[in-house]
Amino acid sequence: MNDIKLTFGELGLSESLVQATKQSGYTHASPIQAQSIPIVLKGQDLLAAAQTGTGKTAGFTLPMLQLLAKGKAASHNQARALVLTPTRELAAQVSESVRTYGKNLSLTSAVVFGGVKINPQMMRLRSGADILVATPGRLLDLYNQKAIRFDHLEILVLDEADRMLDMGFIHDIKKIIALLPKKRQNLLFSATFSDEIRTLAKGIVHNPQEISVTPRNAAAVSVKQWLAPVDKKQKSELLIHLIKENSWHQALVFTRTKHGANKLTKQLDKAGISAAAIHGNKSQGARTKALADFKKMKTQILVATDIASRGLDIDQLPQVVNFDLPNVAEDYVHRIGRTGRAGATGTAVSLVSADEIDQLRSIERLIKKLIEREYVSGFEPEHELPESRLDSRPIKPNKPKKPKKLGQSNRQNSGNRDGGQGNKKPGPSQNRKPSSRRRRRKPKAPAKT
Ligand code: AMP
Repeated sequence: MNDIKLTFGELGLSESLVQATKQSGYTHASPIQAQSIPIVLKGQDLLAAAQTGTGKTAGFTLPMLQLLAKGKAASHNQARALVLTPTRELAAQVSESVRTYGKNLSLTSAVVFGGVKINPQMMRLRSGADILVATPGRLLDLYNQKAIRFDHLEILVLDEADRMLDMGFIHDIKKIIALLPKKRQNLLFSATFSDEIRTLAKGIVHNPQEISVTPRNAAAVSVKQWLAPVDKKQKSELLIHLIKENSWHQALVFTRTKHGANKLTKQLDKAGISAAAIHGNKSQGARTKALADFKKMKTQILVATDIASRGLDIDQLPQVVNFDLPNVAEDYVHRIGRTGRAGATGTAVSLVSADEIDQLRSIERLIKKLIEREYVSGFEPEHELPESRLDSRPIKPNKPKKPKKLGQSNRQNSGNRDGGQGNKKPGPSQNRKPSSRRRRRKPKAPAKT
């Protein structure tokens, strides 16, 4: 890819859309936009490998709006363009983008997803929508209740197709595709292109143009990644310590389970750190409020599970924390993609306990690099995290630690673990700058195979 930056006008977008991008503060098209906009404007099908944070939403929304602006407005209960997303949050975000970019045009749009009453959505669809953004399950419900028809559908967008498959939407998607007119333009976006996605794509797109902005499964380069080895039982305390010491004003924290998210939120609250949880067991209202408060920085920490967080777009998010490593390695890439978005830099830290070595190894093999380890003073683990390697040789079990003589412990001055919370007199380590507090241990170079 070359470094020539193109303006939206140069890509063939109309003046009203160029104005909308300017009002959003964009000066130039991002690489995915520079590639996708001309293809979509020509009416071609598209297969795009792009993760969130690349500007992919504008990459399909802007040219789609331009194409739709030329035709006849949607009639009753009809949609002219359908954007399918895996989660409610992503649907809401895409719909927001459609409104923002389309504000100088007279197109209509609607968004529908589950977890909220269906009746207002049925009423809204009566007048039709030029662009309908939807999650698959609710869309099928609405179709079955005759609230939506697709006879005039011109464009189909599948956003985050890999996550749709992960979330088990394959049957719903196939059912929806079967309801659409055969002649239509298809755009499929996915962060990864597994064989499964390619098989799905074959049944949807015709002679597509293929574009890609990040190498497969590469982590965003603008994200600085490091990991802190720590015992499982010390993780909450370490997180609280990092938040306070580094004055993290806005951090997105991932846990593996909903229960874990709730528990951690309570612990943070107790430590005087404002936090909210976002996961599948929360009502849509609670999820929307948690996200809005976090974006407005009313809440300092948002604790999320993978599914709820997918596609979240929070401007300039500086810090992501993996409180637990995900079981699916690809989720690590998606998680850390929440920071360092659209050129901004961010930091992603993982708190890793010895029992997570298998997950760590899969992640490091997927991203093809070892994540730098930094030991946080006062939180060095008793159960040492085994070394990781990029090759597939088995990991050596940890050597049992030699018992230390009294006074040899490297934790004796920590002031965090042993001093208790009421220890007002800080140990020497508490006064140092965050960078010097952490002991860096370079990961071993991958062994040759
Ligand atoms: P997305 O990958 O679509 O989720 O977009 C990620 C973020 O990039 C959003 O906050 C957009 O507002 C922002 N963005 C999209 N296009 C551009 C652009 N051309 N220049 C700067 N920021 C952009």
